[in-house]
Amino acid sequence: MMRFRLRFAPSPTGFLHVGGARTALYNYLLARSRGGDFILRMEDTDKSRSTEEAIAAIMEDLIWLGLDWDEGPDKGGPCGSYRQTERLHLYREAVDSLLAQGKAYRCFCEPGQLAQSREKAREGQVTPRYDRRCLGLSDEEVSRLLKEGRPWAARFRVPEGKTVVNDLIRGDIEFDNSTIEDFVMQRRDGTATYNLAVVVDDIYMRITHVLRGDDHLSNTPKQLLLYRALGSEPPQFAHLPMIVGADGKPLSKRHGDVAVGRYREQGFLPDAMINFLALLGWSLDDSTTIISREDLIKHFSLERVSSKPATWDTDKLIWMNQQYIMALPEERLEEEVVFFLERAGLIRGDDSQARETLRRILPLIRERMKLLTDALPLTAFFFQEVSPEIGSLDILRGEQARRMLELSRLKLTSADPFVAPIIEEVLRETASSLNMKPKQAFQPVRVAVTGSRVSPPLFESMEILGKSRCLARLDRALELAEEVNL
Ligand code: GLU
Repeated sequence: MMRFRLRFAPSPTGFLHVGGARTALYNYLLARSRGGDFILRMEDTDKSRSTEEAIAAIMEDLIWLGLDWDEGPDKGGPCGSYRQTERLHLYREAVDSLLAQGKAYRCFCEPGQLAQSREKAREGQVTPRYDRRCLGLSDEEVSRLLKEGRPWAARFRVPEGKTVVNDLIRGDIEFDNSTIEDFVMQRRDGTATYNLAVVVDDIYMRITHVLRGDDHLSNTPKQLLLYRALGSEPPQFAHLPMIVGADGKPLSKRHGDVAVGRYREQGFLPDAMINFLALLGWSLDDSTTIISREDLIKHFSLERVSSKPATWDTDKLIWMNQQYIMALPEERLEEEVVFFLERAGLIRGDDSQARETLRRILPLIRERMKLLTDALPLTAFFFQEVSPEIGSLDILRGEQARRMLELSRLKLTSADPFVAPIIEEVLRETASSLNMKPKQAFQPVRVAVTGSRVSPPLFESMEILGKSRCLARLDRALELAEEVNL
């Protein structure tokens, strides 16, 4: 049986787009589900726009998503190099062979001249197409121009007839070759264009399936013609549905974040992201929304990929992330949160006392976390001194609040042991002795101890903070209460 070989071939001109991540994922899933190979290839021939930083950033995002590849620029492999700039000789060979067979020809037209005819075509409202002027050059003329050192581009000579793309998602799509111009395969500067490089590479890398965005559909007939001309069997193609925003327009910055890295920074879990991306165009059945990575690999198939556009829904992604946070084993959740706390300068990852504190807090806040970064405001007060947020100072206003703070401070001094049930009892008694409703009475205490009106459960938080820190914070709040009440 044929071994499945799939590839993800980004152009490293910027960050990894979520649409690119979905393409990478589908290729990865099909390869893994069939025990095949998943290859990473950098299409960096556009030297003016490709950067080393983008190559590194794309790989980092793919690793974060857990989309590991078997062959790639960093790993090597039997079909290397996996960077197009290191494969230029192969593209030249292909061009030479097509020229020799008369399947391609040299075009000496000047860029200005070409632009002019394009402009003319546009004015006449016809699709601009190369007029094949240089196809008619005799061998002598070509030799003369070459001798003169005139630069040339290599154009593919599109044969007459029809080209059918057998798309695994959309079925057969027929293109009349008369609508395809003699496209440039090699530019005047000697570099290969995308259509040539991608075909040569996919042949050498023995790619069996090409899954990519449907924005490439119009390139596919050109590529099929090239396969034929080069005497190779083409891979199977599947064009993935476009990802759109709620307004039905292609997903773009207008709709929100489109860089995978931004989701990572905001505290999304890679597994949630993978689950969400998998469902952008594919489904297991009509109802299942939470699907593990293992099940995705087990069940993924192109038969269930839709040809209709898939709608990006950030709320759904956030909901999914919350489900994944809820299901995370404790140690994993701790690791994930430590990463963000450390980055915010709140703790050091190797501070065992801080980690012990965190281990006690996490069960109290897990349910309130939609994003990993939600842990920051909910836990910062354990790791740094607090000063009530401006918006919370109001809570300290008024005689009632001041008395509640004062009396709690006094009574808590003798709370022993300083544990949640006893703290609760003391605070309830204090509230009732002041004729205050518990909820209302606890707010100034909460603001005093946590700095905010919203916090993890108060009594448990106080126990974890410990008596002396709670008393010191109540003292500080009393001073503030004096100030705001002046
Ligand atoms: N480098 C191309 C892109 O990023 C790859 C397209 C393909 O998969 O053939 O769009």
